[in-house]
Amino acid sequence: MFRKKCDRCQKYSYSSNAFGKWECPYCFKDISHVKEEDPINKVIFSPRFKGEKAKE
Ligand SMILES: [Zn+2]
Repeated sequence: MFRKKCDRCQKYSYSSNAFGKWECPYCFKDISHVKEEDPINKVIFSPRFKGEKAKE
């Protein structure tokens, strides 16, 4: 499951397939070029852990 945020109307649309043509269902803008997000794994917005370990 992926989602994209429309860069025109700022609304999210959802699809199970991030490939191919993706049109915003609200304003019908072609948002195929917008980078998709994976809301389950949150791969895009997760901060990158630096591998810090608790000092014991
Ligand atoms: Zn839109």
